[in-house]
Amino acid sequence: MSFLDIRGVTKSFGDNRVIRGIDLSVEKGELVCLIGASGSGKSTLLRCINLLEPVDDGEIVLDGIDIAEPGLDPRPVRQRVGMVFQSYNLFPHMTAVQNVMLAPRRVKSRTPAQLEEPVRALFRRFGLESHMDKYPDALSGGQQQRVAIIRALAMEPEILLLDEITSALDPELVGEVLDVLRQLRSDGMTMMLATHEMGFAREVADKVCFLNEGQILESGTPGEIFTAPKHERTRSFLARVL
Ligand code: ADP
Ligand code: MG
Repeated sequence: MSFLDIRGVTKSFGDNRVIRGIDLSVEKGELVCLIGASGSGKSTLLRCINLLEPVDDGEIVLDGIDIAEPGLDPRPVRQRVGMVFQSYNLFPHMTAVQNVMLAPRRVKSRTPAQLEEPVRALFRRFGLESHMDKYPDALSGGQQQRVAIIRALAMEPEILLLDEITSALDPELVGEVLDVLRQLRSDGMTMMLATHEMGFAREVADKVCFLNEGQILESGTPGEIFTAPKHERTRSFLARVL
């Protein structure tokens, strides 16, 4: 059994069948990239795994437990499954470190004194120690997104879901955020990443899944998907974005 096993997941919004039977497994320490055209269902799939959207059918088995089971309390699952969005949504009236401490204080009942050292270590690890006490508007977009990643990590998730986290950034700021992901990957963090950064996916992904109209049309190693795609739709998508 894999760390995360997605089996036969479907999801509609009204008549719009957005996820049409997805099977996907993620091993511990793997980085899986979801690629595909806008509207292919990448965000919805990630939101289903984080229980932000209920699935219509299928199983999402995390470490042996079906978290898609109706009626299951989503809170413990969301502690284990971290998520970072395109819009970093830091609270503007709180400093970077206050933003990061908020969820562990509220959800895990940690005190600022307990959090001081581990949180400082996270800021240090990602080169932001000197910015801890700044308010978001004093930080660049890349720095804010790195704080948002630190905020997710402060909850000590077992898997991190990242949805187009560089799409809102100026091109010159994308690299510093991708560097954080490289570092997390070498630390062994399990990650699922919806991305338009094909070069990055090719470089770091263990597995690449091409989503097309709510289905995984093909998946494989970066070499398989980028060098020798089997499907015409994958080829034409790659021809448009590469
Ligand atoms: P992607 O992330 O690959 O661009 P999405 O998962 O955002 O794709 O969207 C897939 C489809 O689901 C789109 O047709 C989108 O309009 C639709 N959709 C996404 N979220 C909602 C929602 N909350 N309500 C209705 N339709 C939605
Ligand atoms: Mg999306």
